[in-house]
Amino acid sequence: MKQLVFAALGLVISAAALAQQAAQQPPYATTRVEGTDKVYVFRAGNHQSMFVVTSAGVIATDPLGYGRPQMVNTYIEEIKKVTDKPIKYLVYSHHHNDHISGGKPFKDAGATIVAHQRTLERIKAQNDPQMVPPDETFTKQRTLKLGDTALELTFLGLNHSDSTLVMRLPKEKILFAVDFLPVGQVPGRGMIDFYPLEAEGSIRKVLAMDWDKLIPGHPGAGGRLGTKQDVQDQLDFLQYASDTVKVAAREGKCWEPAEKELKLPKYEKWPNYENNLPFVIRRYCGLWGRGT
Ligand SMILES: [Zn+2]
Repeated sequence: MKQLVFAALGLVISAAALAQQAAQQPPYATTRVEGTDKVYVFRAGNHQSMFVVTSAGVIATDPLGYGRPQMVNTYIEEIKKVTDKPIKYLVYSHHHNDHISGGKPFKDAGATIVAHQRTLERIKAQNDPQMVPPDETFTKQRTLKLGDTALELTFLGLNHSDSTLVMRLPKEKILFAVDFLPVGQVPGRGMIDFYPLEAEGSIRKVLAMDWDKLIPGHPGAGGRLGTKQDVQDQLDFLQYASDTVKVAAREGKCWEPAEKELKLPKYEKWPNYENNLPFVIRRYCGLWGRGT
């Protein structure tokens, strides 16, 4: 009888533990992209990177070590769990610390760091010891060929930053793009130094590229990857926000009245709508109410 009681109690405890586990996302996770045998997403907190296991070694991206240097070692351990091949490249998506800080363990593992030329200039200006400068840079396009795999790196102009690359696996039709294409979400803090007009041009170029799945630099709504429809939706959102603020700006409502009054009800069901809307309105007030 006593045993039975304990057994029942054990069941209750494990059910509660499971429920708690589901509620709390683990600090990191590695997921293979469905339909491929070589493309992975490494998630650390709310950031994520792509890594590709080729026949001749690994191409990793963004080390994600800002404020959590140990996570970079975890990232490398996660790669080693799926392959014993060496890490040949580390590609930076753009110059922002939250994505590329902490690359030293990759460098120590023998990886060649590749980035846009402006990322190197920004890192030099910042002079932060956590930010490891790239070994190789370019300005427009470069294709990394490693074993059986090609990874095409393209600079599409100004958008979320002045150094952002999109990374495309032509054979696998996968695109990795960081911070300028949130998947099914209202953009937030990243709007602060966003280039609104130029970004629309970059997004149109992304839509014209050949790919099926988008890996975003932050997990999409519900943790999913993106589609071309998500990219079109983001472009529609930005244009709608831009047009709405433009009207208010011409009525002299930027900054405060616009930030207090304007709503974009079409998008109120998107995650982060309430929190992030002020960032969006402020940026477009900068454009249409101030001229920058
Ligand atoms: Zn960024």
